[in-house]
Amino acid sequence: MLGVTGSIGRQSLEVAARLGTPVAAIGARRGSDELLAAAQAHPEALVGVAAPTPTEQDRFTGALGSRVSFGSEAMADLASAPGSIVVNGIVGSAGLPASVAALEAGNRLALANKESLVAGGPVVLAALQRGGGEMIPVDSEHSALAQCLAGESLDSVRRLILSASGGPFRGRTGESLDGVTVQEALDHPTWEMGPRITIDSATLMNKAFEVIEAHFLFGIDFDRIDVVVHPQSIVHSLVEFVDGSLKAQMGEPDMRVPIQWAITYPQRAPGTVARFSLTGRDLTFEEPDLNAFPCLRLGYQAGRAGGSAPAVLNAADEIAVQAFLERRIGFTSIAAIVEQTLDAIEPRPLESIEDVAMVDREARALAHSLAGGSC
Ligand code: MG
Repeated sequence: MLGVTGSIGRQSLEVAARLGTPVAAIGARRGSDELLAAAQAHPEALVGVAAPTPTEQDRFTGALGSRVSFGSEAMADLASAPGSIVVNGIVGSAGLPASVAALEAGNRLALANKESLVAGGPVVLAALQRGGGEMIPVDSEHSALAQCLAGESLDSVRRLILSASGGPFRGRTGESLDGVTVQEALDHPTWEMGPRITIDSATLMNKAFEVIEAHFLFGIDFDRIDVVVHPQSIVHSLVEFVDGSLKAQMGEPDMRVPIQWAITYPQRAPGTVARFSLTGRDLTFEEPDLNAFPCLRLGYQAGRAGGSAPAVLNAADEIAVQAFLERRIGFTSIAAIVEQTLDAIEPRPLESIEDVAMVDREARALAHSLAGGSC
């Protein structure tokens, strides 16, 4: 379990404990108290710290001895242990090497790190091909799609329909979003998440990433992936088939359900989430507003351009969101900076993790200067 101190990681540990699934390894970016506590709660587990401070490194070595390893390669090493289910809950494109390592080793990758596919889709698919692993999505929409697609042939799919909550600014016009505050943007109506993904939900960039993620996960072209705004977040996504049938996967919004399904697949196991009641519900669906939320349009644009363009989209967005969170740019400048970065960098093929890292650095530097930072 990688990224154990994040929201997905914590819930994954909880799900594993309830299922009785042994935890062979845990990893996180920093050597925090929480990681140390998790390491002590799992005395059999190997522990990785990707970017420790010297103090953290001393402390972890003192407490855990030889079962802890350090550095960015530590995550990929843990992910490549044969016969593992690797839950990748790392945040950002830093999660790509672990995804590649898991698949190359023939492991099941329970993928919560969508940036692996957004930034490095072609590289991840090549690793899947080489290693013969399997990729099971943990992202709630993609888990819903995979559950709807189980037992179906991809030839019979007319389109995938990704649900979007619409975020806190659903129904607002583009102009009215100019002056929104960080606090307003962080106030997500239905899902509890980290700050970057919460801002990405407010701009609909998260949905843009999910369109690209769906393309790589299921091999469906962009013309056959739609987004519908569904503010109640009960229908997690839908598949329309060529005979006119629609399948939807529904339930209370709770990430423990997709996490558990990715671990138990193709079986199911009893869960502890709230039972779902159909009665007394209003489920509504609307078209996304691409004028107020241009990031979604940019997602399709980058996805269709292919190659390095989605990696540029991801990197530029990460920098722009950071600038917004630090109150250096306004909310609507996020999309503007991403668009300018995307337009400035010519798409090129991605063949390796290094190719992804290179375009990632280039896009970050450009977005950073567009956000008013010095290069
Ligand atoms: Mg999602």
